[in-house]
Amino acid sequence: MPTVPTTAGDIDIDDLGVVYMHEHVFIRTEPLQWGWPGFSGWDTETEVESARERLRGLAAAGVGTILDMTVPGLGRDAALVARTVEGTGLKIMFATGYYTYDNLPFPFQYRGPGKILDGDDRVLESLFERDLTVGIGDTGLRAAVLKVVTDEPGMTQDVERVALAVASVHLRTGAPICTHAHAPSERGLDQQRVLASRGVDLGRVMIGHSNESTDLGYLEQLIDAGSYLGWDRCGLQLTVPLDAQLDTLAALVERGYAGRIMLSHDKASFMDWFSAAEVDPFVPDWRYTYIHGGVLPGLRERGVTEEQIQQMLISNPRDFFAGAAAGSAAPEGAGQ
Ligand SMILES: [Zn+2]
Repeated sequence: MPTVPTTAGDIDIDDLGVVYMHEHVFIRTEPLQWGWPGFSGWDTETEVESARERLRGLAAAGVGTILDMTVPGLGRDAALVARTVEGTGLKIMFATGYYTYDNLPFPFQYRGPGKILDGDDRVLESLFERDLTVGIGDTGLRAAVLKVVTDEPGMTQDVERVALAVASVHLRTGAPICTHAHAPSERGLDQQRVLASRGVDLGRVMIGHSNESTDLGYLEQLIDAGSYLGWDRCGLQLTVPLDAQLDTLAALVERGYAGRIMLSHDKASFMDWFSAAEVDPFVPDWRYTYIHGGVLPGLRERGVTEEQIQQMLISNPRDFFAGAAAGSAAPEGAGQ
């Protein structure tokens, strides 16, 4: 049986349980935390304690595993997350990639295709590949997925370099690809185009932040090309009201796509971009518990069945990771 690396070791995909496929624990801006320790109120022990409480709450709600999509650029610290989750009953998977909407950091401005030190992007690729095969730093914790980030600026030169490096490493390692895609500008289609151009099977790709669109045409196009949708900003109504998100999700299920959708919140216990005082009144439902408290009851009201809910929470993540071993075999339930 295929396994996936988690904080609890390599776990049989059948033992992942309910999986939230895009969450965070700590989001910290590396240059700011490095230059001004404690920026935005960060205090390690205080934040570890409050995160531990929240992760315990997730486990108590029946969640087995979360995928921590915090990659470099967002302050990934696998050792700290592993220490935080210990004793909570939850398992955490990690991601590799680089988080930027436009440019890579300076070393990559001078090195790479068309740069002063002209050449390929082997350096970038080797960083991603090491995280997946050897481990993140000296933690012994391996990443489970590759991440591509494409926001409103689109496939800038550097964002495309990341996507192409991810594609190459995916083809070598079999690790699945999860994305951040700005849905209102249909960036998921750009991601599919670039990844497919390198021969990636789009069935191994989850296009993220898809609940930020109500355009069924866009969403169906992503699924029809083979990908999963990350319905992964549950509780966050930046572009689409929560009720409209539920209506869109129920409509997709009604059209037979429950086998291609995975749920999560994209929530962090601590984020140095905003203070809790700024976020909480503005998006009061954006909590780790909103899926169980708000989304699932809303889906049931709209006629979504328990079986379809289990599919989105348990079977789809399992099948998504099973693909790593099964190659391009179509996941069970696809297109039903
Ligand atoms: Zn995220």
